[in-house]
This record gives sequence, C-alpha cells and structure tokens, in this order.
Amino acid sequence: MDNKFIELAAPGVRALHPYQPGKPLAELEREYGIHNAVKLASNENPLGPSPSAIAAASRALQDLARYPEGSGYLLTGRLAKKHRLSSQCVTLGNGSNDVLDLVARVFLTPDHNAVYSQYAFAVYPIVVQATGAQGRVAAAHDGSHGPAYGHDLAAMNQLVGSNTRLVFIANPNNPTGTWLDPDELQAFIAGLPGHVMVVVDEAYAPFTDASFMQQLPNHDNLLVLRTVSKMGLAGLRLGLLAGAPEWLEQIDKTRLPYNIGSLNQLTGSFAMQHKSVFDEQAGKIREARAALLAGLQAMDSLTVFPSEANFILFRVPPARADAIYDGLQEAGILIKNLHGSTDALRDCLRVTVGLPEENEAFLAALAQLLS
Ligand SMILES: *Cc1c(COP(=O)(O)O)cnc(C)c1O
Repeated sequence: MDNKFIELAAPGVRALHPYQPGKPLAELEREYGIHNAVKLASNENPLGPSPSAIAAASRALQDLARYPEGSGYLLTGRLAKKHRLSSQCVTLGNGSNDVLDLVARVFLTPDHNAVYSQYAFAVYPIVVQATGAQGRVAAAHDGSHGPAYGHDLAAMNQLVGSNTRLVFIANPNNPTGTWLDPDELQAFIAGLPGHVMVVVDEAYAPFTDASFMQQLPNHDNLLVLRTVSKMGLAGLRLGLLAGAPEWLEQIDKTRLPYNIGSLNQLTGSFAMQHKSVFDEQAGKIREARAALLAGLQAMDSLTVFPSEANFILFRVPPARADAIYDGLQEAGILIKNLHGSTDALRDCLRVTVGLPEENEAFLAALAQLLS
C-alpha cells in the first residue's frame, strides 16, 4: 500500500510497537515436533479453574442469545463486597488490559503525559501512546539503593509535571517480580499533586500479602486494578478497577456497551463466590515459588531476582539468553525471553511458577544447558 496511507494513522499509533503475545504451546509443539510441552511463559495458574467454575460457565452458555447485563450487576456487587467497597467504587473491563486502555483514554490527550518505570508492564506504553500522550520512563533502581530493576519512586516523582495525569505502578511488577515497600508507596501517592492519578496494578496481589484496595478511602487520586487472569481464568478476560465513584463515572462513559460477555460475568461471579478454591491454590503456588527460587539460586552462574508474583526473573551469563531459551524449547519447556524484548532486560529470562514436577523439569533442563 502507498506509504501515505500509513501517515493517516494517528502519530501516537504509528510509533507503537505491538505487544508480543506469548507463544501458544501448540505452536512450540509443531515447531519442534514434540508433545506434552510445558508452558511456563505467561504467568498462568497451572492448577487451572475449579471444576465448579467450569460448570458455571457451561450453565451460562444457555443464555447466549441474550445480551449480557451492561452494568455487570451481580459480579460488580460480589467483587465490591469481597473488597469491602460499595458497588459504585467498582467497574469492569474485558481483562485488566481493557481497563488500562479505558483509564488512558479518560485522562490523557496529546497535551498530557503519563509516568511509569523502566521495565514496567509492557501494556502501559501502548495505552499511553495510543492516545497521543507522552510516556515518561523513569530509570529503574540499579541495585545500589533499592532492589535491582525495581521502581525508583523518587525518580518517578521527578518526572511528574504540570501536564502529568497518570502514574502507572504494577505492584508486584511484571516482568521483574519486584515490589514496593507499602509505606513508601503510600507516601509517594500522598505526595503527588492533585492533578495526578495513580493506577496501582495488582495483577499479582493473590501471591503477596500487600494490597492498596483498603487504602482507597484515604486517597482521592488512587485507582486499583485487579484481574482474574493470574487466578486460573486468563482465557475469560475479566478485570476490575476500583476507585472513587466520581472517577469511575467518567470511565464508565467510555466503556463500550456490553464489554463484558455473559460467560465472563457468570463464571467470574461464581469464582468470586468460591474464592477459597483459588486461595488454596495460591498457597500451593507460593510454596512452589519458594522451591523454584531455591533451585535457581543454587545455580552459581545465575543472578536471581526474588519475586512476590507467580514468576521469577533471572539473568544468565552474558550473551547466552537466546541459546538457553532455545535449548529449553527444544527440551519442551517454554518460558519468556526478555533479552530481546522492546524494553530489553539484557540477558534475562522469566519463568512462571508451574506445578512442582514442571518446575523440576525446568530446573533440570536449565542446569544441563548451563553446564
Ligand atoms: C498479566 C498482567 C495483567 C493482566 O492483564 P489481563 O488483561 O487482565 O489478562 C495486568 N497487569 C500486569 C502487570 C500483568 O502482568
């Protein structure tokens, strides 16, 4: 096509790098002619959804001829109750990525900017730049005065200006697994000027003890984001945004009609009602994380970054990341290679906590590739 058509796209969109979705297992198996490959690449829950959530989904199939409830009444109510908030403090997205996009569209224009950290979640630059706003990237900690690769709140604060409208913070962060001291984050939020909203993305809250949900009444400028994706329902696409009703009212205006399908709503509300199933799984995942961390730390040639999420980032000896990533694939194990990503974490790979036997297979294959 003639190049002039490309120039018709909005400048922010033209400059975007598309998100690279994780490789599906079927593709890996086709590529290497293997079976029973293990996926430890996309931070999914290896224990899967509970059978009763699946039963709820199949009951929801009967009503597919009807539009879903636009407000997500039942689900919103259950989520609000679980987090001890009123229903007006909660809105839904088709995955939390959808919510991130809604927030960016409501608060940003080409005259504005948003602040996030180096090595922040890959979706933040996409939603920010798509609006034509500027993304301001704060250098991450280098390890000398805070966890290596972690968010440097002082550096982020310095980038906040009169045209800043949003700050994005994933806590714990993906792909680094790093997390912030709750008191420091609290002070950071309280210290921002009144025209700046902070989005605390708690996609990994189930694997840590810290959450800012209960801080919502203390801060006018706080939005908290959750998802069911890391809880065994990544395929469902369901995210939640909590914040002051005045903000959510603005956000709800741009939410497209029926953005949450009836399957998502019914399965999600059932999963919330029976959340103890997941809480038990999260306990097992945290135990498996400790074993996986110990296994990685036992390998002398690696630098391992402790994590409060359901994955662990590690650095391999210089210039070996691609070969190790490929070698693991050949052994039927798919992890995430961050070495060549857009915001490159040089020589770094990320592994999702899987079932104990999957983690052991990964550790054995990795040890062999390193030897
Ligand atoms: C996985 C992840 C999400 C989840 O996105 P969904 O659209 O809900 O699947 C959000 N934020 C971070 C930091 C993540 O790692």
